[in-house]
Amino acid sequence: MDDPAGADAAFEALGSEPRLRALRALVDDEGRPTSRSFSELFEATDVDTTAGFSYHLRQLTDRYVRKDEESYELTYAGLRVARAVAAGTYTESVDSDPIPLDDDCPLCGEAALVATVADNVTTVACDACDRAVLELPFPPSGHDTHGDDLPRAFDVHHRHRIAGFSEGVCPECGGAVDAEAEAAGDPGPAVATFTCEACGARLRCPVTLATLNHPAVVAFYHDHGRDVRDRPLWNVGDEWRERVVSEEPWCVRVTTRLDDEELQLFVARDATVVEHRRREVEGRSEVTEESRVEGSEAAAVDDESEGASA
Ligand SMILES: [Zn+2]
Ligand SMILES: [Zn+2]
Repeated sequence: MDDPAGADAAFEALGSEPRLRALRALVDDEGRPTSRSFSELFEATDVDTTAGFSYHLRQLTDRYVRKDEESYELTYAGLRVARAVAAGTYTESVDSDPIPLDDDCPLCGEAALVATVADNVTTVACDACDRAVLELPFPPSGHDTHGDDLPRAFDVHHRHRIAGFSEGVCPECGGAVDAEAEAAGDPGPAVATFTCEACGARLRCPVTLATLNHPAVVAFYHDHGRDVRDRPLWNVGDEWRERVVSEEPWCVRVTTRLDDEELQLFVARDATVVEHRRREVEGRSEVTEESRVEGSEAAAVDDESEGASA
């Protein structure tokens, strides 16, 4: 799979504006792939002669563009490039002023969380205790299209990324994912690290966040008239606790409590939920010594954001 020489040739074939314009012209105004004739593609560029444009089109043909009778359409790779150009993935660098968030800081409880964007990486941090809660990239097109709804869009985007990683499928490339959970401090929360074996995409987050999509969690919240998606990743709620309960085999117990019922999830070294159960509880005392899902060492981060903040 890893083929730098092949990738070099593939990127070289894209290395001029007329070729990228031609690829963009093979997606219609609604974003759907479409077929175009030679002359339609020629008009979409500012190349002076058809002979000159023919040369450019030949560099794209087969790898990015497929010729069918007298028309041209995108291949899978061509569509990926056209979409990335449209989304500004390689060209846009978004920075923003701090956006106040509605949720309290999970670290100090103050209503002082703000989201700040620097070079497409969003940091959620607390102005009161001066600590970062999470730091994750967000595609530039996401910043442009959501307006005031940006915090919710950011939450949904990363909820699905974490769900993909925790189910063993890379959200970037579909590759197989290697997962490992470990204690982040003593005492302290547990952290799951996911790494794609194919493309190297990596994400680190509190183990609790990796369980949010588990059917037992979704059902538990639903049975109590709640929706687990109502709370954002930067403050999943103070009902969550984590505790390492066994070293050999390694196991962390993640608990959440609603009304007088508690859900316990037992998470193994590979970050999968191996067992879960519910029990009736009264009072809070049994779980108070356990780590709340907090602490900057447990902040959700991934590769892109680590690189950008270094
Ligand atoms: Zn705080
Ligand atoms: Zn991948």
